[in-house]
Amino acid sequence: MSDEQSYGFDTLQIHAGTEPDPATGARQVPIYQTTAYVFKDADHAARLFNLEEVGYIYSRLTNPTVSALQDRLNALEGGAGTVCCSSGHAAQIMALFPIMGPGRNVVVSTRLYGGSVTQFSKTITRFGWSATFVDTEDLDAVKAAINEDTRALYCESIANPGGYLSDIPALARIADDAGIPLIVDNTTATPYLCRPIEQGATLVTHSLTKYLTGNGTVMGGAVVDSGKFDWSASDKFPSLSAEEPAYHGLKFHEALGPMAFTFHSIAVGLRDLGMTLNPQAAHYTLMGIETLSLRMERHVQNAEALAAWLETHPAVAAVTYAGLPSSPYHARAKALYPRGAGALFTIKLKGGYESCLKFVDSLKLFSHVANLGDARSLVIHSASTTHRQLTEDQQIAAGAEPDVVRLSIGIEDVKDLKADLDQALKTAS
Ligand SMILES: *Cc1c(COP(=O)(O)O)cnc(C)c1O
Repeated sequence: MSDEQSYGFDTLQIHAGTEPDPATGARQVPIYQTTAYVFKDADHAARLFNLEEVGYIYSRLTNPTVSALQDRLNALEGGAGTVCCSSGHAAQIMALFPIMGPGRNVVVSTRLYGGSVTQFSKTITRFGWSATFVDTEDLDAVKAAINEDTRALYCESIANPGGYLSDIPALARIADDAGIPLIVDNTTATPYLCRPIEQGATLVTHSLTKYLTGNGTVMGGAVVDSGKFDWSASDKFPSLSAEEPAYHGLKFHEALGPMAFTFHSIAVGLRDLGMTLNPQAAHYTLMGIETLSLRMERHVQNAEALAAWLETHPAVAAVTYAGLPSSPYHARAKALYPRGAGALFTIKLKGGYESCLKFVDSLKLFSHVANLGDARSLVIHSASTTHRQLTEDQQIAAGAEPDVVRLSIGIEDVKDLKADLDQALKTAS
């Protein structure tokens, strides 16, 4: 689609990245269920492998259905290039892969999705990488945590599970001063509520699994690059600025400019790590994104109404939702997240741990699942599930204390959700 610069979000979420299929005129993006693509001739094949011409070789690297999704996400996030991959966790590895190396570290927020805490604190050490966790509210601590081996700063826009909102512009300034990229996991905000690149982020990661697909059907991930970071300004990022031995010595930044990160992610990352998104999953996500803004508006509307009501409920000790005037992050929500603070928050029950478990078991409309961002309302007791493998200190830092329950508010009738919460709270207390 041309004219992408001038179209609004609601138009881009339906049209960006797609044209009627040139072969058949099919209006919807076909699912290109193919592994390989016929080369026009031997010269064409060689040019594709040399990155002299962009085209399709093998679906571990690129696929037209996946490309359409990449282009659409790229337009919605305002990026230079986007690569999709098999899950949100894969996206986090894909984002770090071109910029990290043995002995290098990433400074990350303590307020993260539970799986991300484990991925960063344990699993990435197998690659010789490490993570330093800091409270990103303490900007001096963030600065102090960055050292000469730091290659990125990482946070979530709306942090799961506590509904904390990161101050992306402040973190971007610190990353800029240190000459490193800021990576923002924008899964729980989606580009409808937050556009991290506009606020200074270099890379944006997504779990497509959540709001983007929006109905709990597929696993997927994406990395969006702003194209604005100067990988050659220092010798910190040799895979991009110097000769890349894994791609016959190509200097990606010199050869590809703002597309260096994206091409490296495809030509080396997807090629060798193999975390490819399948075209069927890309298709579901394209369908989901067509209604993203409508869903997010309703998610936010319902979350605001329920959070305000729960705050006054006799069984509830506290509600952490940045959309509430009582939240310490309310001013930040108004300034940086003007379309709403998302639909994910935790409630602390006066009855404590036992009461939380009873509450979860008593809900009828809310599904008890380890997921979020579904059209249907979901509930989970993070401390005993998604954040179970964390230490108690890590649980508290992440906002997953034993006496809190996380709600992912769906797009159902708000009166039905309220009635369900009310009956479960009464049973639990
Ligand atoms: C779910 C989630 C992830 C991981 O995504 P998967 O698709 O499950 O791998 C990462 N970050 C956040 C904020 C998430 O909610």
